[in-house]
Amino acid sequence: MYSHPGVKTSADFPIPDTMKAWVLGNPGELTLTEKPVPVPKKGEVLVRIDAVAICATDLDNIYHGPPAMIQGGLPFNKNWTPGHEYMGTVVALGPGVDEFGIGQRVAVEIHAGCGQCKRCRQGMYTSCLNYGLNYGDVDKGHRANGFTTDGGFCEYQVNHVNTLVAVSDEMSDEEATLVVTAGTAMYGLTELGGLIAGESVAVIGPGPIGLLCVAVAKALGAQPVILTGTRDNRLQIGRELGADHVINVRNEPDVVAAVRKLGGGRGVDYVVECSGAANAINDALHMVNRGGKVCLAAFPHEQVPVDVAHIVRNNIYVYGIRGEGRSATHRAEAFMRQKRFDATKIHTHTFALADLPEALRYAKDRIDDAIKVVVKRDYRPGAQRAAAA
Ligand SMILES: [Zn+2]
Ligand SMILES: [Zn+2]
Repeated sequence: MYSHPGVKTSADFPIPDTMKAWVLGNPGELTLTEKPVPVPKKGEVLVRIDAVAICATDLDNIYHGPPAMIQGGLPFNKNWTPGHEYMGTVVALGPGVDEFGIGQRVAVEIHAGCGQCKRCRQGMYTSCLNYGLNYGDVDKGHRANGFTTDGGFCEYQVNHVNTLVAVSDEMSDEEATLVVTAGTAMYGLTELGGLIAGESVAVIGPGPIGLLCVAVAKALGAQPVILTGTRDNRLQIGRELGADHVINVRNEPDVVAAVRKLGGGRGVDYVVECSGAANAINDALHMVNRGGKVCLAAFPHEQVPVDVAHIVRNNIYVYGIRGEGRSATHRAEAFMRQKRFDATKIHTHTFALADLPEALRYAKDRIDDAIKVVVKRDYRPGAQRAAAA
């Protein structure tokens, strides 16, 4: 049985020595293997993963490699387990942990910074200067689960207590996996200044982050909130999450002009770019008003020429964000706990952990209008569309 010096366990939550874990071989090749159940170090806990959502970034990691970085390089054939948007139950406590107890349900942030670099000291742990330095003879304690260390497409994972968010008992496992997604949206709006009540916000791209960005912006009092995209079904969900206006760019030949008009003719105060489309950054720069702020929350796969003169002439602020820093997940969970928005509207499908490749296919090819696909350890095999969808 699982027993390690200094690690607290409970008979209520027996832990095996090995677990099922998916590992990445060549690009796009996942294999279900057996791995030792990891052991929490000082300040860490062991989380039994009850549910894990698939993110577009997982698809990047699995099919292309970056932004995953394992042992300083590409993640292929390194016995690495991807997956990062998970929730679960604390089942073992590493030395020094009394912030959480065994049996507690938690969602997790991805990034545990090293805690000793300048950025970590500023609360910018997703920009830790020791990012990925957790291998060989360097161990800065940095983890970005599912990016630089093993992630959540398995049964158990270790998490630093700083990455844990206690979740309300009223929240389903599926909803709790969305805390981190909402946290990324919250982080983007935090970096833009946070005080957005009464300010106009445009969100480009109705993927999970864009949709929850609409929800969080609305919960923070933004007015109007405008969502642009190409899929009517997703734009409709955006409306349900609080968008005052939605624009299908397929029906609108000049989306920039349309957004500027809705922003009183002069553009909007904030734009959050969540699509990663090559033209989106320049669209964002022209949607925002003079002195306005643009947050880039998605990455294009190619290099993009940018209208820099427009940025300078108009005193536009441009922010890149990575992940969910500054404890944004805690604020996101608070909104979800208070039912300020219903994040489950973006959850469309659930699969068993054993059916991960099929779940990835649904997410990648957007089969059956899939948006958020969740994988659960105790789920019976086969897909089931969420009741709410
Ligand atoms: Zn993600
Ligand atoms: Zn650091």
